[in-house]
Amino acid sequence: MAGIGPGAADLITPRARLAIEQAEIVIGYRTYLDLVTDFLKPGQKVLSSSMMQEIDRCRKALELAESGGRVTMVCGGDPGIYAMAGLVFELARRNGCSPPIEIVPGVAALSSCAAVLGAPLTHDFASISLSDLLTPWETIEKRLHAAAQADFVIVLYNPRSKKRTSQIMRARGIILGYRPGETPVGMVSSASRTDESMRLSTLEDMPDEDIDMRTTVIVGNSRTFTWQNRMITPRGYRDKYGLG
Ligand code: SAH
Repeated sequence: MAGIGPGAADLITPRARLAIEQAEIVIGYRTYLDLVTDFLKPGQKVLSSSMMQEIDRCRKALELAESGGRVTMVCGGDPGIYAMAGLVFELARRNGCSPPIEIVPGVAALSSCAAVLGAPLTHDFASISLSDLLTPWETIEKRLHAAAQADFVIVLYNPRSKKRTSQIMRARGIILGYRPGETPVGMVSSASRTDESMRLSTLEDMPDEDIDMRTTVIVGNSRTFTWQNRMITPRGYRDKYGLG
């Protein structure tokens, strides 16, 4: 399984690129396959997920690998972060089949989005997906309370989709129970792609619009500050050593 990073061709690692180039069969969600068309080779078989859903896609990849095929499944970002790596292992364990499985890491959205914003993740952070398709909303709320209370910087994945519209403002409400309204919030959409955009706001003024499935939202901790349109969370150097 190869993570192809956030979108830009030069953020695909050489190892992920090699895994795609050397595959006999490449499987993936259409959007991700579109991002790697330049690396596909003429003789390769390409299976896109417009033909298959997630579980079927992973099952098919395992089946093909079991029968000796060299299969590479592509995922956006990192395959082990809110992506297919877990499901592939779950299915392999369930079926008692074990073709060799290699996970090639990728640049995750939290890294690429943090880089666009400046340095918001320099101290402890928690990552929470707001998608309640596979996780009960009560569990997500519990984690939001815990992370907010413990003063973690909070990365919000899957903040909003066409059908799931209320979660992001509910999350904001929960975090506001523990943090002041002026806490910085950074929003990055389509990091490293041609339509990349970033916006800084505060918990109080955080816009509901402009946030969709291509967006990652990062909420600062009690020490996070903004400077020259960047978002920065100090690690503590100033307190310990002074900065002159
Ligand atoms: N495996 C991926 C995450 C998939 S979940 C990874 O490691 O990054 C999908 C969510 O990831 C999106 O809803 C969005 O919150 C985030 N995301 C993925 N790519 C992004 C990008 N280029 N810019 C901003 N957010 C992104």
